[in-house]
Amino acid sequence: MNNDNKKVETLCVQAGYTPEDKSSRIAPLVQSTTYYYDHAADLADAFALKTATPIYTRLGNPTLGVLEEKFAALEGGIAALTTSSGQAAILITLMTLLKSGDHFVAMNNLYGGTYTLFTSEIQRFGIDVTFVDPNASADEIGAAIRENTRLIYGETIGNPGLDVLDFDKITGVAKDFDLPFVVDNTFATPVLCRPIEHGANIVIHSTTKYADGHATCVGGVIVDGGNYNWANGKFPELSTPDESYHGLVYSETFGHAAFILKARAGVLRDIGATMSPFNAWLTNLGMETLHLRIKAHCENAMAVADFLNRHDKIAWVNYPGLKDNPNYERTCKYLPDGASGIVTFGVHGGEEAAKKLIDSVRLATLVTHVCDVRSHLLHPASTTHSQLSDEAKRASGIAPEMIRFSVGIEHVDDIIADLKQALNHI
Ligand SMILES: *Cc1c(COP(=O)(O)O)cnc(C)c1O
Repeated sequence: MNNDNKKVETLCVQAGYTPEDKSSRIAPLVQSTTYYYDHAADLADAFALKTATPIYTRLGNPTLGVLEEKFAALEGGIAALTTSSGQAAILITLMTLLKSGDHFVAMNNLYGGTYTLFTSEIQRFGIDVTFVDPNASADEIGAAIRENTRLIYGETIGNPGLDVLDFDKITGVAKDFDLPFVVDNTFATPVLCRPIEHGANIVIHSTTKYADGHATCVGGVIVDGGNYNWANGKFPELSTPDESYHGLVYSETFGHAAFILKARAGVLRDIGATMSPFNAWLTNLGMETLHLRIKAHCENAMAVADFLNRHDKIAWVNYPGLKDNPNYERTCKYLPDGASGIVTFGVHGGEEAAKKLIDSVRLATLVTHVCDVRSHLLHPASTTHSQLSDEAKRASGIAPEMIRFSVGIEHVDDIIADLKQALNHI
């Protein structure tokens, strides 16, 4: 299919695969590690990156290619790279752009796994990070940028604080300092928000969440916006000869696609955090209904947030789609079609009451995962964010009485009835 000017719904269903005459109508699962070549010269060209035909599945596979093309089309990027997990997508992005001695600036309200990656493992390789309050002024955020700063990192909807990123402010800072802006768009999905349209340069997803949508496989993807000048001298790995490819210079050979080519042909080649073809195939099936599922998640989450907001055992409700939410204005601006499916709330009675509620639900289930078709809930302070210091917890908005509710696409009456009976147990 030609993706030009197609709507998001059409891209979800059809992008990434065009059947040939009398071929499989469904994108085939190419469960093969390797690819046959007729001529030695053709395989040599592929190894030298002169052609983009598959060589070995660690570096690329036709089924992964379907999902990559779909994500690139949906996000409005020029190319994408699938990875074995969302964490791998983040790590590969950092490894492609940073080296020992470099520094980056990240919002302080990130997913717990990302926060620990930035503050533990990455640190051992001499890469430094400064966390900033996403609600700080552009000047304050700019003040965190140093001579050796190489990127700015944020999430469209912070997990689980649910702040909506002020794209105009952060892209303004990124442009002022000529830095790439990397955005984790997992919670919003390209159905609700396309960060590249708002000035982001690289978009990351944990496809484990809404993209797959059924909690069947862990995966990630990196989308390159193709809108950053990698030859500006800040990224020597992209603009000076790569001896492992006979002196190839990514920014000369691939221009605006230098980043995503280096991520695949250099970093993914070397660390091997590749998505399995079967996971890509399942994730692509999930993507075919993403637009329908997201709509239902948003509607149900809004109704659940409304219900909780009016319940006397509930101390507070955080859902960026609620009119009284501090993020409401930004939600209208950047997420006009819905504020996604995650609601957080606090119960009167602190941690004990929160745990009682979790133990009393029957339809919703206690799992670590979020963003699939089923309703789930969790107590972040004692689980996903338990490795954070008390100070970091406060900065990420993790309170002891807080529950994270991932609203599924069951009938909303059943979801609310379940919450109602569980609240009666407190
Ligand atoms: C889950 C998640 C990740 C990590 O993804 P995995 O697929 O679990 O490795 C990164 N960012 C966000 C926002 C997430 O929710």
